[in-house]
Amino acid sequence: MSDHHLMSTYARLPVHFSHGEGAWLWDTQGRRYLDALSGIAVCNLGHAHPEITEALCRQAGKLVHCSNLYEIPLQERLAEALCDRSGMERAFFCNSGAEANEALIKLARAHAHRQGNRNPVIVVMEQSFHGRTLATLTATGNRRVQAGFEPLLAGFVRVPFDDLASLEALARDRQDIAAVLVEPIQGEGGVRVPSPGYLNGLRRLCDAQGWLLLYDEVQTGLGRTGRWFGYQHETEARPDAMALAKALGNGVPIGACLARGAAAEAFQPGSHGSTFGGNPLACSAALAVLHVMERDRLVERADAIGDRLLAGFRARLGDREGIREIRGRGLMIGIELDRDAGALVRMGLERGLLVNVTAGNVLRLLPPLVLDEEQEGLLLDGVCALVEDYLAPPAECAS
Ligand SMILES: *Cc1c(COP(=O)(O)O)cnc(C)c1O
Repeated sequence: MSDHHLMSTYARLPVHFSHGEGAWLWDTQGRRYLDALSGIAVCNLGHAHPEITEALCRQAGKLVHCSNLYEIPLQERLAEALCDRSGMERAFFCNSGAEANEALIKLARAHAHRQGNRNPVIVVMEQSFHGRTLATLTATGNRRVQAGFEPLLAGFVRVPFDDLASLEALARDRQDIAAVLVEPIQGEGGVRVPSPGYLNGLRRLCDAQGWLLLYDEVQTGLGRTGRWFGYQHETEARPDAMALAKALGNGVPIGACLARGAAAEAFQPGSHGSTFGGNPLACSAALAVLHVMERDRLVERADAIGDRLLAGFRARLGDREGIREIRGRGLMIGIELDRDAGALVRMGLERGLLVNVTAGNVLRLLPPLVLDEEQEGLLLDGVCALVEDYLAPPAECAS
């Protein structure tokens, strides 16, 4: 086999998986891997979860797709379930994180136009990641994502993340701002957790200025950080609208834009749409995901496992030379090195451990929320050994 017929968008690792179960994956040679990536925060319930499989099979045998030109009761049920948990009022369904953010951006612009702001500007953050479509790569704070795709879109202004003062300065200087778009914890940017009070402060500033507060919860949402939504680590930080995707379907593509108040009323029939968005198959998967998360208390579980892992990593790696910081919330954990960490991915793979490196020097762990006690121990030991061997290679490996 070769990848000559695939466009060269990924530098792929030389392994392919045949099946999985929970936090385990098997390759086609029969080797087993502990998955500490979950398809990048997608398979939060682990692989081949029997109840998701059953929901999909049952729905696939009845009705996979039906146009949004008709009523879709499963979509209405899912919207209600998500609104109940998030404090939002209405949902729009799409198929990916980038699309969910596109919906946020269009929603903010539509809302601004209705208020007479004909050239609305959205504030975005340095080191942010919002997706690969033209609007979302413009919003992304990473030149490598943007380079070669200019011209970028107008209507965005960038400030440093976790810095309320620069936003306050912007508020004094400009009259055209409609919204602030931020990840509650930056994922691709290196698992950057903002200072306590940052999101509350954003909420207060947005209220004072009449700006919408928009969260990209594509990675942080749905239990990943030990709360249903990442913003719920703070008390007064509820947004006007938020984007969800990744974990919503446990691997079945589905995204959502949720909103409340005036933002929830900004779209009218014809404003926005999606052929596949919220089809019965994807909605049945997402409803099963929410059901299992609730019944098995996976949000609390992510919180507890995450606390133990973070404490374990800090105790065993915190004082090592070469470690800059160990941070995270719930099962979104970053170990920042003082050097490039890219090689850890292949080293981990060779040891049967699937990890990720982002922002060049941050080892990122996003294990499934269903991790059991044994797997938790294997993950802690495996990651510590991996990092230790990388920082101080055993003599026979040094060259
Ligand atoms: C993954 C991600 C996206 C993009 O999601 P896609 O489904 O790949 O379009 C957007 N925002 C954040 C925070 C993400 O982690």
